Amino acid sequence: MMGATKLISPVVGRAAAAYSTYRIGGPMMEAYFPTSILEAETLLKHLKSRLLDGEEMTVLGWGSNTLIASAGIGGICLITRKLAGIQPLENDNCFRFEAGVHLAKVANVALQAGLTGGEFFIGIPGTMGGACRMNAGAMGQESSKIIKRALVFDLVNFDSGWVSAEAFKFSYRFAKMNPRHQLVLAVDCEFQQGDVQAAQARMEANMAFRKEHHPLEPNGGSVFRNPTETNAPSVGKMIDELGGRGAWQCGQAKISEKHGNFIINMGHATSLDVLQVMQKMQTTIAEHYGYRVYPENKFIGLATAEEQTLWHQLHEGDPHSNDDLHHQQHGCPTGTISY
Ligand SMILES: Cc1cc2nc3c(=O)[nH]c(=O)nc-3n(C[C@H](O)[C@H](O)[C@H](O)COP(=O)(O)OP(=O)(O)OC[C@H]3O[C@@H](n4cnc5c(N)ncnc54)[C@H](O)[C@@H]3O)c2cc1C
Repeated sequence: MMGATKLISPVVGRAAAAYSTYRIGGPMMEAYFPTSILEAETLLKHLKSRLLDGEEMTVLGWGSNTLIASAGIGGICLITRKLAGIQPLENDNCFRFEAGVHLAKVANVALQAGLTGGEFFIGIPGTMGGACRMNAGAMGQESSKIIKRALVFDLVNFDSGWVSAEAFKFSYRFAKMNPRHQLVLAVDCEFQQGDVQAAQARMEANMAFRKEHHPLEPNGGSVFRNPTETNAPSVGKMIDELGGRGAWQCGQAKISEKHGNFIINMGHATSLDVLQVMQKMQTTIAEHYGYRVYPENKFIGLATAEEQTLWHQLHEGDPHSNDDLHHQQHGCPTGTISY
């Protein structure tokens, strides 16, 4: 070990909207942007007594799956996007990506090394840490297929350790981890030797598809996970058939013209506007199709009582939110949501 690592300073009061692709979110009380794993670990250890005293910790990658409360984020916020180191590992097919590496970079690094399997990341506007938490996927591929293990800092024992992919019990847009206790600092991925030209062509086709079908306005990607029942239509298709695409609107939040499962911020949308559109989508799908769909988007920050009620209703019956709900009931000061 070299000399002691410097303690990074917080950014105070900056609008969180800049760190979410929805461009919604009030001030962050205390935000940190570590630039190395050592810096992040040093910071987290330094914050130990405050966190053990019950202060909030929120982790954010690119904010591309996250709705942030218009009232902002209380407590401590760790934003990983400057954790951008990439290291080839001894096994020729493996790389270590720090949590904040953008997924387009992951796809390109693999391809440039003559490897395939990471091309589905090309159009997903998130980070490696966010992809691990969300088991992000596209083009019939998922993060779980390439993640071997992750370096996780645990806010229970205040240290980092490697967690194997199996322990995350990955399933559709789900990884078993508690974002309030477990922060991903780095991820080891394994790719395959393969037809790089074919992979490049798949990437280009995917980008062209996204250009045509995804909105240009600020949004958070698919707001709901698709129903998992066999032969169930996608959320986008159901909303389309119900006439919601490009039409349903609350305040300044509206379902995109291009995709029925995307909500766009028309300029001045609030977190409540987005949650209200989500509620309309969920209830109308249940009434007409009988499917109960659950949020893929996460909602973090200082939620109003109305927002908290809506968010709980949206998750009612969701088998994947149990850990988070449990944590919230037992660990969060009133008014704060983080899952
Ligand atoms: C236009 C658009 C298209 C999209 N297309 C797709 C798609 O095709 N497939 C897909 O799966 N998703 C898609 N998404 C959603 C999103 O890009 C993915 O879920 C992505 O993996 C989120 O990464 P992020 O870094 O932005 O996570 P964030 O939004 O920052 O965070 C998401 C969750 O992960 C937690 N988190 C973030 N970083 C860490 C970390 N280091 N450790 C622990 N927890 C962490 C956060 O607390 C939060 O709960 C799309 C989004 C947009 C806006």
